[in-house]
Amino acid sequence: MCGRNERIATQLSCSHTRCTYMPEGPSIVILKEQTTDFVGKKVLKVSGNTKIDTKRLVGQRIVGIHSWGKHFLIEFADFSIRIHFLLFGSYRINERKETPARLGLKFAKGELNFYACSVQFVEGKLRDTYDWRGDVMSDEWDPALAKEKLLAKPATLACDAMLDQSVFAGVGNIIKNEVLFRIRVHPLSKIGALPPRKLDEVVNQARQYSFEFLEWKKAFVLKKHWLAHTKRMCSRCEIPLKLKVLGKTQRRTFYCERCQVKYAKTVKKAARTKRSASNRHQSSAVRVTKRPGSRPTRSTGVPRGPG
Ligand SMILES: [Zn+2]
Repeated sequence: MCGRNERIATQLSCSHTRCTYMPEGPSIVILKEQTTDFVGKKVLKVSGNTKIDTKRLVGQRIVGIHSWGKHFLIEFADFSIRIHFLLFGSYRINERKETPARLGLKFAKGELNFYACSVQFVEGKLRDTYDWRGDVMSDEWDPALAKEKLLAKPATLACDAMLDQSVFAGVGNIIKNEVLFRIRVHPLSKIGALPPRKLDEVVNQARQYSFEFLEWKKAFVLKKHWLAHTKRMCSRCEIPLKLKVLGKTQRRTFYCERCQVKYAKTVKKAARTKRSASNRHQSSAVRVTKRPGSRPTRSTGVPRGPG
């Protein structure tokens, strides 16, 4: 299988005992790339302790494999399987872990096994459920649309806005911390108070950093490039970074009080833009937020590691 007859074992999130973090969009893109050779293959046997009706999968042929944000999607003729790896999810390609799989798919050659994840059916065509314009890793990514969705919520804190999957599907806590540090925006800044140039940077760097994350992760050098996430010192100011659980999302946030500017005053212009953006794009924004893929990033509640 995979054309190279090789066994691949992958842990999506960090394997350190003290480190847990939800896999972010680029990690799901890597999984998609590793599994594309299963497209066209017929499911011969299904196993696993998922509660979904797995009998329905037997005899079905995979017609496509996709990622949307943090969702891994296996498409069949009339429905798809959606896998979300939550905090501890993992997978094995052509091999198995000792622990029971949530879902195992066996083919004439090879198998896919998923662990500690959420498994759900998505009925009908994927395009009826997912809007790839909101996926930071997608060719269809639409930065103007992301900007308008942000301006529709001017009171949102930057640390929450970046984790909003209805705006930035695929962005997780690492990307949030690194982007805000890179563009020198304090996590408690209000979106409506950001100067237009900074708002553009939020949108553009969410995608830019995600692709850098992808390349670094493939080369096993992701952590070497972290400048804020899990770091103690600001490399620009040479003073200690702050670590606080911030925002509605209550995620660990690493930032520098000195060089990351807190934009707090919501300007009236932003409020006006909010109304017009809201009117013009209500249908698309609502369409995304009502989707199953648009749940906000799950909060870990308390600090548990670099997540
Ligand atoms: Zn600094």
